[in-house]
Amino acid sequence: MTDGSKDKAAATPTGDPWLLTPGPLTTSPAVKQAMLHDFGSRDGHFIDINRRMRERLVAIVGGAAGAAAGDDEEFVCVPLQGSGTFVVEAMLGTLVPADGKLLILVNGAYGQRMAKICRTMGYAFEVQEQPEDQPTDVNALERRLSESQDITHVAAVHCETTSGILNPLERVAEVVQSHGCSLLIDSMSAFGALPLDSRKVRFDAVAASSNKCLQGVPGMGFCIARKTALSAAAGNAHSLSLDLVEQWQAMEGNGQWRFTPPVQVIAAFDKALDEFEAEGGVAGRGARYRENCRILVEGMRALGFETLLPDHLQAPIIVTFKTPVDPRFQFEVFYDRLRERGYVIYPGKLTVADSFRIGCIGDLGPEQMRAALAVIEAVLGEMGVSDRSAAAA
Ligand SMILES: *Cc1c(COP(=O)(O)O)cnc(C)c1O
Repeated sequence: MTDGSKDKAAATPTGDPWLLTPGPLTTSPAVKQAMLHDFGSRDGHFIDINRRMRERLVAIVGGAAGAAAGDDEEFVCVPLQGSGTFVVEAMLGTLVPADGKLLILVNGAYGQRMAKICRTMGYAFEVQEQPEDQPTDVNALERRLSESQDITHVAAVHCETTSGILNPLERVAEVVQSHGCSLLIDSMSAFGALPLDSRKVRFDAVAASSNKCLQGVPGMGFCIARKTALSAAAGNAHSLSLDLVEQWQAMEGNGQWRFTPPVQVIAAFDKALDEFEAEGGVAGRGARYRENCRILVEGMRALGFETLLPDHLQAPIIVTFKTPVDPRFQFEVFYDRLRERGYVIYPGKLTVADSFRIGCIGDLGPEQMRAALAVIEAVLGEMGVSDRSAAAA
C-alpha cells in the first residue's frame, strides 16, 4: 500500500479487491458463507445437494433429465474435481474413442490447450487454426469436413477467453451435425451467461466449471453429456480419475463421488446456483454482464483506449484493450496501482497485439464498473499517460 491509498480503496464486503478477471472471480457473501460447514461425503444432506446441483446444471442447457425425455434427447451432468482444464481433458479423453479423430477449432489459448491435451494423451487430432481476433471460420470447417475421411468429433470453444471473442456455435453445430460428427464444447467462460440450448444447438457434451459465470468458488468442473453418447463411451478413457463414464456410473449408483469430493466448494456452488436462479437464470445473468460490458467498453473508449474486437464479436465476459503506445504506460505499474485501490485486472494473453484484459463477470454490477473506470482515469493521470491510443496495426 502506498500512502493514503488504503482509505481510498473500494473493497468488497470481505475487504478484498474486486476481481475484474475471468475467474476465480468475486463471489457473493452468501456463497462464501456456505463454505463454513463440514459434511461427510456420505451425509444425506450432501447427497441431496449433489443431486439438486446435477439436475439444475442439466436444466440450464434445456436438456431434460429422466425418463420423460426421448432417449437421445436426455442429458446427464457429471461433476469432476479440479479446475476447468481437468474436465475438458476428461471430456475429450472419455468421449473420443481410440478409433476416432478430433478436429479442434482454435482461435486462442484454450483451443491450443485442447490440442496440447490430445498430444499429451496420444489421441489422433487435427487443428483448424485462425488468428485470435477472428471468429471460427464456418465455411472453412464445412470444406474441411467435406474433404475429410476420418474426422469423427469436433471440439469448439464457446467464448475464447484469450481475446473475449464469441464463436458462432450455432453455425458450427449445424455444419458438424450435417457431416454426422459429434460436437464437444468448452463453454467454460460462457456457461450460465450466454445461451446454450441443447434443443437448438446439437452437441454431445459441454464442459464448464464452478468458478466462472455461475459465480461459485474454484474446485470443480462438470460435463453435461448426451446420455447415449456417454453410454457409448465406456472404456474409452485414457485415465482412471478423469473417466467420466465411471464417475457418472458411481453417481447414478449411490449419489456419491468416486473419490473425495470438494464438499465446501459444492456447498458454495449450491448457494451460487440459488442466486443464479433468483437472478433469472441465463437471461438475467447475461443481461447484467452485458450492461457491465457496455459501461466498461464505453468508458474505456471515452478515456481513449481501443478494444481489440469490434462490438459484434465481443462476448460480454472479458474485454481485451490494446496497450497504449505512450511509453509512460507500463502495465505492471498500472496493475499495481489499480490493485491498491481495490480493482484487480488481468494481463493480456494475445500473440497478435500487446494488450491487457478487464473482466465483466462475477458478483459485481454497474456501480463497480463505473467506480473502476474512475480509478483507471485517476491512475492514468498520475502516470501521465495522456495518449491512450494503440500503435497502428
Ligand atoms: C477458464 C477456462 C478454462 C479452464 O481453465 P482452468 O484454469 O483450468 O480453470 C478452459 N477454457 C476456457 C475457455 C476458459 O475460459
